[in-house]
Amino acid sequence: MFDTLIGPSGTLKGYLRPETAQGQFLNFARLLDFNNDKMPFASATIGKSFRNEIAPRAGLLRVREFLMAEIEHYVDPNDKSHPRFHEVKDIKLRFWPKGIQEQGSTEIVEQTIGEAVASGMVDNETLGYFIARIYLFLVKIGINPQRMRLRQHMSNEMAHYASDCWDTEIETSYGWIECVGCADRSAYDLTVHSARTNTKLVVRQTLDEPITVEKLEIEIEKKKFGPRFRKDAATVEKFLLAQTECELEEFDKELKANGKIVVTIPGIAEPVELGPDLIKIDKIKRTEHVREYTPNVIEPSFGIGRIVYAALEHAFWTRPEDEDRGVLSLPPLVAPTKVLVVPLSNSPELLPIVKKVSDYLRKQHIPFKVDNSSASIGKRYARNDELGTPFGITVDFDSLKDESVTLRDRDTTKQLRGSFHEIIKAVREMSYHHVSWDEATTNLSAFEGQSQSEA
Ligand code: AMP
Repeated sequence: MFDTLIGPSGTLKGYLRPETAQGQFLNFARLLDFNNDKMPFASATIGKSFRNEIAPRAGLLRVREFLMAEIEHYVDPNDKSHPRFHEVKDIKLRFWPKGIQEQGSTEIVEQTIGEAVASGMVDNETLGYFIARIYLFLVKIGINPQRMRLRQHMSNEMAHYASDCWDTEIETSYGWIECVGCADRSAYDLTVHSARTNTKLVVRQTLDEPITVEKLEIEIEKKKFGPRFRKDAATVEKFLLAQTECELEEFDKELKANGKIVVTIPGIAEPVELGPDLIKIDKIKRTEHVREYTPNVIEPSFGIGRIVYAALEHAFWTRPEDEDRGVLSLPPLVAPTKVLVVPLSNSPELLPIVKKVSDYLRKQHIPFKVDNSSASIGKRYARNDELGTPFGITVDFDSLKDESVTLRDRDTTKQLRGSFHEIIKAVREMSYHHVSWDEATTNLSAFEGQSQSEA
């Protein structure tokens, strides 16, 4: 973790989080309660993360302070199916699996996420579901699907606890950049937090049929604990009762081999010795009506700065007929301004209709800008093409007669004519409801007006 000095004298050590995940794990019990103890469920955080990068560089791509968004999706380790996997299973993705990377090849395997999960290349349905949803999100905000690939972590770079991990990499002018990670982190985080805080972070599931289980359990000779450990007795007992099955197995072996175990317990200065007079470890058979388990976590982790940078690069191009005319083809959904309103001239006669169009856009909650500067109409459009404004509405002298206006498409510069009400409806459909230009404009007529040429 990135450390710093805090407090009035600057002598206290403070730590800046390297990811947003930990706050969610610490709140697991509360989050589960909010979800009425039902599994599976997810939590999400967006916030600043800090890493002591040795060589920060490349604008937003490698920085020491960055905006991160993380989802923690908690699943039953025995059932990692996802109820909505069928919705995404036919999406074709570009995979770069670890086997191919190990051969030193950059060959991409194109398959549907359904095939990748069925063959076991992607470990499970829930992980596959999130990988596909990450892809859909990135395409929606304008990332070119052909410049995206899914790189699987190789065995030597994957955290020891993770069962599978895929990074969504996006190609930019700086090369392929990891923009989103998606890992199955198994039960690691919750187990570690639980052990360190001495708090149970588990799900309790009532079973339809009771089951008989055989488990190692530790029995404590309470009468002897008090005289032997005095003020530390409660700490030693709490520590022993919080041990996992695996840890008890180790204690059992040690006890049998050495006739005692020696443990270091947080809060007690000296190592503590325990013999068979104080503890007993035995396999106990019990009938259980409740299954208690630590959920596994599937974690999609988004670096917002990298995604925004890649989206801007993928959206930018220049008109082939004029290299100086840049266009930022942001999808209407993410463009900050949806419409540029341009009066054909700055004649005061046009002002009332410009106001009417503006009022209606405002009423429809569509972000817009009016450009009534004296620049030529072509220039006014060109500078807003560069800012990514997807639609233009031109108000001219015919608008005074019948309230008709012209709708212009940023990418094709195509223009259509219709009433301003119809045109604003089309803009709304295209901006917020994924309706295509062709579908949204069927009732508008072609416009070839000489007066609005962009020359
Ligand atoms: P990680 O936890 O290392 O998988 O990081 C999660 C995401 O955070 C990555 O996919 C990146 O998008 C982003 N990220 C990591 N380190 C940096 C950094 N130094 N600067 C900007 N973004 C970063």
